[in-house]
Amino acid sequence: MSQVLDKRKFYIDGAWVDPAVANDLEVIDPSTEEAVAVISLGGQADTDAAVAAAKQAFPAWSATPPAERLAMVEKILAIYQKRAEDMAWAISHEMGAPAEMSLNNQVASGTFHITNFIEAFRDFQFVRPLGDHAPTTMISWEPVGVVGLITPWNWPMNQVTLKVIPALLAGNTCVLKPSEIAPLSSIVFAEILEEAGLPKGVFNMVHGDGPGVGTQLSTHDDVEMISFTGSTRAGIAITKAAADSLKKVVLELGGKGANIVFADADDAAVARGAKHCFNNTGQSCNAPTRMLVERSAYDRAVEVATQVANDTKVASAHADGRHIGPVISKAQWDKIQGLIQKGIDEGARLTAGGTGLPEGVNRGYFVRPTVFADVTNEMTIAREEIFGPVLSIIPFEDEEEAIRIANDTPYGLTNYVQSQDGAKRNRVARQLRAGMVEMNGESRGAGAPFGGVKKSGRAREGGIMGLEEFMDSKAISGWDRDA
Ligand code: NAD
Repeated sequence: MSQVLDKRKFYIDGAWVDPAVANDLEVIDPSTEEAVAVISLGGQADTDAAVAAAKQAFPAWSATPPAERLAMVEKILAIYQKRAEDMAWAISHEMGAPAEMSLNNQVASGTFHITNFIEAFRDFQFVRPLGDHAPTTMISWEPVGVVGLITPWNWPMNQVTLKVIPALLAGNTCVLKPSEIAPLSSIVFAEILEEAGLPKGVFNMVHGDGPGVGTQLSTHDDVEMISFTGSTRAGIAITKAAADSLKKVVLELGGKGANIVFADADDAAVARGAKHCFNNTGQSCNAPTRMLVERSAYDRAVEVATQVANDTKVASAHADGRHIGPVISKAQWDKIQGLIQKGIDEGARLTAGGTGLPEGVNRGYFVRPTVFADVTNEMTIAREEIFGPVLSIIPFEDEEEAIRIANDTPYGLTNYVQSQDGAKRNRVARQLRAGMVEMNGESRGAGAPFGGVKKSGRAREGGIMGLEEFMDSKAISGWDRDA
């Protein structure tokens, strides 16, 4: 076994500090099932120290000219790029993204978001006129205060940058609690912010679990806002925990995306959708996990998706190549196995993959890329977020039925539409109950807000809306426009 890294310290008030009370947790490499590092889970005293540091730093940071905050984030971006290899290593070892994918997708998603925030912030108007009808009423955008940021393990830097960067640009100070099972990338991130020379207390990081630091932040009187990404279950718990302190709560939760494939879709649509579902080993909230296919194109779509699954290589995160890695943990592996079995038991037709480890593998949390055909939208595999490489294919007869099935889910994050008929695409997009609709394989433009409706939560992250999310608006009337 290689050396287990000691990563027990927290970053509080500009220094790496020991936990008040030691509470060790091993970070398990999902490719090998071996401990790669040990962290400590924080407690109330650590949370209080981090919040106090953030509170103390708030007056000065919020009064820092926006241009200075922007310059600081530009510096952070440069160091983030310099540390890309370290970051990719951390993500591969904590959550199993294959090395190449970790660098080119996981780490790159952070670069993308930081760059987009810099662009959006450059032209950001902190004080804007309400409108021509009320020339002396202005809307002023102001920082919220101390913000608590709670992130998941599946796209660690995607989530951390979507929260920390706009929080800092807006003039807030923050406490980050990354996922306790994927904490290593956030340690690298904290080192980056330290190297950039951020004033002490502006950014703090405490490791911990949901019942511990997560709940302590959600209930803390000095935390004005929680920005959370994770499961719907935890989002509900945070909303309840935050109620007594009436803080602002912003939630990015799960999804069960429908990918509507009409018979007139382009030839690559089905393969593209299946690959997207399996990307990151199916561990994406916006994964298109329900493929809805028009009846006349259905049999061929099942064949193509089955072929994609059979061609998808599964291997260690530490091997070169564009394969998919393991899922994050034994708990997730068990959950996914149970759901695949449920699909079989409830009568879906298994056309690729299935339960058990892929052939030739006896170690690591690897899952077989799996396709189910003849799924009905009532089956458990069509309703629950599986968070593994499992695709469910559902036939539909016409546009109306496709929309009905797509919307018949508790979630509403991203839906997808494949058709070469522009008018039909636009019509369907308008009727889908979701925060995002991506059509014909075209991903959202830079700065478009990421977020959902219904049980996917209603946060809006990224770009200008993602900056405004971390601010309060103040309406000021009687403004002297000549002053
Ligand atoms: P999770 O909810 O178990 O944990 C997420 C984070 O919340 C972790 O840091 C965890 O420690 C913390 N947490 C858990 N319970 C808590 C509580 N009661 N109070 C405060 N904090 C708590 O989710 P996960 O397993 O890490 O991530 C997977 C989930 O995240 C999936 O459901 C996925 O769809 C969702 N997700 C959503 C988006 C999005 O933008 N909508 C993006 C990525 C992941």
